Amino acid sequence: MFCHSTRDESCRADCARAVLEGLAPDGGLYVPEKIPQVDARAFVNLPFLPLATGVISAILPGISPMEKLVERAYTGKFSSPEVTPTVKAGPFTVLELFHGPTSAFKDVALCMLPQLLTAAKTQEGMKEDILILTATSGDTGKAALEGFRDVPGVKICVFYPEGGVSQVQEAQMVTQEGSNVFVFGVKGNFDDAQSGVKGIFAAADRRLSTANSMNLGRLAPQITYYFKAYGDLLQRGEIAWGQKVNFSVPTGNFGDILAGYLAKEMGLPVGKLLCASNENNVLTDFLTTGTYDRRRPLHKTISPSMDILISSNLERLLYFVSRDTSLVKDLMEKLNKEGHYTLPEALLEKIQAQFWGGWCSDEKGKEIISRVYGDLGYLCDPHTAAGWAVAEEYRAKTGDDTPMVVLSTASPYKFPEAVLSALGEAAPEDGFAALDRLREKTAVPVPKNLLGLAQKPRLHTRVIPKEEMLSCVLGL
Ligand SMILES: *Cc1c(COP(=O)(O)O)cnc(C)c1O
Repeated sequence: MFCHSTRDESCRADCARAVLEGLAPDGGLYVPEKIPQVDARAFVNLPFLPLATGVISAILPGISPMEKLVERAYTGKFSSPEVTPTVKAGPFTVLELFHGPTSAFKDVALCMLPQLLTAAKTQEGMKEDILILTATSGDTGKAALEGFRDVPGVKICVFYPEGGVSQVQEAQMVTQEGSNVFVFGVKGNFDDAQSGVKGIFAAADRRLSTANSMNLGRLAPQITYYFKAYGDLLQRGEIAWGQKVNFSVPTGNFGDILAGYLAKEMGLPVGKLLCASNENNVLTDFLTTGTYDRRRPLHKTISPSMDILISSNLERLLYFVSRDTSLVKDLMEKLNKEGHYTLPEALLEKIQAQFWGGWCSDEKGKEIISRVYGDLGYLCDPHTAAGWAVAEEYRAKTGDDTPMVVLSTASPYKFPEAVLSALGEAAPEDGFAALDRLREKTAVPVPKNLLGLAQKPRLHTRVIPKEEMLSCVLGL
């Protein structure tokens, strides 16, 4: 099966090349020519590994041997044998996506991407090393480092804004082990690091790729856990086959929720997909009015992985609902040049039939963390709290009581300061002290990868001016 760009159907690549390139050469995102149909009823009864094999090979049929790749990606990496377990918490089911090596949901995709990428490289007969460049605001960097560490034929280099990530996140990155990993702090903010990386892509004469969610190879694995969660509800007798389930998804770049849309298009009985934002509520406005407008200040919130004004993967949804590459191209050009666009009414209606948008302030998020812990004994992180808040709001406003799954995208221990303060405690300045305090207070187990992080040797101590990013990369 072939993929093509969201902006031009004649800009085509087979699946292996699409994964290798990440981004289509015309600046669009690769989409499968046709969304595959699967035997969803059989899929939902499978354990995670065979399920992932079925799902990913349906989307990327050219890459093999998928069963082996999936086994290598996930075996021994997740602290739960189910990989993405669900737990019942009060009115909702929580889909826990944070049991991977870095305690963020991005692990589910970034454990698999290196396998897909190296298989694609072999299939395309590419001999030279690939260099993965990633600018990160926190979670992607560590998950990518862990995913690509010691993978033959690949080097990975991560740039993070010095002082722009949480103390726990920084420690996770600078203590990274592996023979092929490089981490640099950049003097500047995330945008500086990001534009630096884009500049290197334009200037450097070597094989580069990226681990961000524009890559189809990162999207495909995420479809798996929607099927898995549905199967869990089925097994517990909470639903019968064919009954619809709603999902509430804490959203930034629109990758995770788009995977839910693909699961639905592949045949899973999904009802509504709830797009949960924080105060950076561009998507809430878009889903309500049809106008996407990024001309607004970026707020720093307690859910930093959702502090984003340009949700790249929305472009794929625009293509899927319109099947019109020239429309997508026009809208994206308008967004780029003028900072906003408005959808034709018919398309907005199509999107609204499947998606519902809401947002959660920091104050509301803290209220949720406190109430859910107090009433149900369940401790959630600020991103998950946004998903929970929007799920509650949706039910109250629509009266739709379809079974609801809330996606939990990070361990509360990644954001101990915010969680402690939500529980009414003065948070210590030091992130590690806050982590210890949260453990004492709640007795919720700390993920293994975060234990002892403060004592681990700091292996990557270089902080560079942004002008030196290119020369750093050339020296690798
Ligand atoms: C990246 C991230 C998100 C947002 O996911 P998208 O696929 O970018 O929408 C939500 N929560 C956490 C903790 C994340 O790291």
